[in-house]
Amino acid sequence: MAFSLEERLQLGIHGLLPPCFITQDVQLLRVLKNYEMKKDDLDRYVFLMGLQDRSEKLFYRVLLSDIERFMPIIYTPTVGLACQQYGLIFRRPRGLFITVHDRGHIASLLRNWPEKDIRAVCVTDGERILGLGDLGCNGMGIPVGKLALYTACGGVPPQQCLPVLLDVGTDNEALLQDPLYIGLRHKRVRGQAYDDLLDEFMKAVTDRYGMDCLIQFEDFANVNAFRLLSKYRNMYCTFNDDIQGTAAVAVAGLLAALRITRSKMSDHTVVFQGAGEAAMGIAELITMAMEKDGLAKEDGLKKIWMVDSKGLIVKGRDHLTHEKQRFAHEHPQMRTLEDVVQDLKPTALIGVAAVAGAFSEQIIRDMASFNKHPIIFALSNPTSKAECTAEQCYAFTEGRGIFASGSPFDPVTLHDGRTLYPGQGNNAYIFPGVGLGVTAGAIRHITEDVFLTAAEVALADLVTEKDLFEGRLYPPLSSIREVSLVLAVKILEYAYEHNMAALHPEPADKEAYIRSLIFTTDYDDFTADSYRWPEDSMTVQSCKL
Ligand code: NAD
Repeated sequence: MAFSLEERLQLGIHGLLPPCFITQDVQLLRVLKNYEMKKDDLDRYVFLMGLQDRSEKLFYRVLLSDIERFMPIIYTPTVGLACQQYGLIFRRPRGLFITVHDRGHIASLLRNWPEKDIRAVCVTDGERILGLGDLGCNGMGIPVGKLALYTACGGVPPQQCLPVLLDVGTDNEALLQDPLYIGLRHKRVRGQAYDDLLDEFMKAVTDRYGMDCLIQFEDFANVNAFRLLSKYRNMYCTFNDDIQGTAAVAVAGLLAALRITRSKMSDHTVVFQGAGEAAMGIAELITMAMEKDGLAKEDGLKKIWMVDSKGLIVKGRDHLTHEKQRFAHEHPQMRTLEDVVQDLKPTALIGVAAVAGAFSEQIIRDMASFNKHPIIFALSNPTSKAECTAEQCYAFTEGRGIFASGSPFDPVTLHDGRTLYPGQGNNAYIFPGVGLGVTAGAIRHITEDVFLTAAEVALADLVTEKDLFEGRLYPPLSSIREVSLVLAVKILEYAYEHNMAALHPEPADKEAYIRSLIFTTDYDDFTADSYRWPEDSMTVQSCKL
């Protein structure tokens, strides 16, 4: 109903719409009023996805009207619930579904995708969705949600984004038995056939969209995540958000925390609960930050300890993968996190094992007894998997704990009347800005330094003293568009300094250049003289739709 009379006449749709002409502001109002009538978060998710299908510009306008409110619906935690129920809530397909049986034909599947200029792909095989495990083909909700944030938070135009689900089967018995399941009904295919699928996929994407097409890996199980990252990182423009994006956001939180503890990264001893993708990525970036403090890499590694499902990782223990061995130190074996904390007296405790409630009252109180300001990050998602709540952290540390979580927690008011706002170590602070910067500069390979740059100069420096006083380790989510812009500009500057950008000539004003790329939610006025008519009128309609 926002089409003008002239547009309606030109499109031949006059009379097919109610006679009233309304603005996007009124459309927004209508959406918000409908949204308020929804009973639960899953209903809200379904409603917003329906809007995304019907009216993309309005969908993004709604998200941008209050990103803090809508992000937990289209992304963690609700997207986790949506993936669990994906077969039930399925209405229309979104994204490209490629199965292991499509080997040899991926290039032709890509040709079926209607857009030709794709700059960012987000891909999952659905094996480790958030902390919820193997959800197979239902994992499509994740790349769809992530790319919606590329646009909402980073401003990357939605038509340049492609969500992909690689379906190789699922080992989730319940899904295999579920009549509503939307994926292949067999166990996961592994080994050579799996690797061949991935190789073909990477090549087909870059053949079609160029070597600077960004491919973000998302929610792969860690047996594949590390392997694929090291295999492809120097061949393609790729990163793994669970490893590297998480690392950047967690390290940005730690860097902000250092301003409260008035210490350097190299002064800290960090214990991880969990030794998977998130832990390894964060640990790697912490050691890089320690190196910047002047500490040798091997000395930095010694300050980091990890606990996995078998207990403390120590030299000589069984079940140590190549990645874990780097963090295995000489030390007696220990089973429980309680013992580890009491023995090592860490300054920072980071939970990334998806074991709900793992930070017991005892552990938190112990942390508070060794440290004036214990750093306690309960990063496991969704909320139901968090190691402790914000309230528990603040209560058991008498408000001295520095807390961040993976999923959002409400503000907590302490006995002394002070209100603390838990930091949300949300990867969305990082990947949309990285995506914007990398695609803007046609950067071919994304090094670890790009993520440290994102954490240091972009994110941590944007946290004000007032934010820190209120317990916030990150800038307000409401400012995420500005955050992403700053991050993209810094990455572009870094890329040109280090000869990593393929875009030439180098933009003289990088900020202006990036701003010029950003998607706007305003409707195009295609009756204006300056409007160049696309070849088919369906495209003309979709400008408004
Ligand atoms: P992963 O599967 O790679 O790793 C999980 C690790 O937990 C493994 O090392 C496993 O051995 C360990 N573990 C399992 N049970 C354990 C137990 N009882 N005690 C100790 N360790 C145990 O998964 P991941 O990608 O590292 O993600 C882990 C969690 O972190 C998920 O909940 C995920 O949602 C969350 N995460 C949060 C953020 C964020 O907040 N920004 C980002 C990424 C991941």
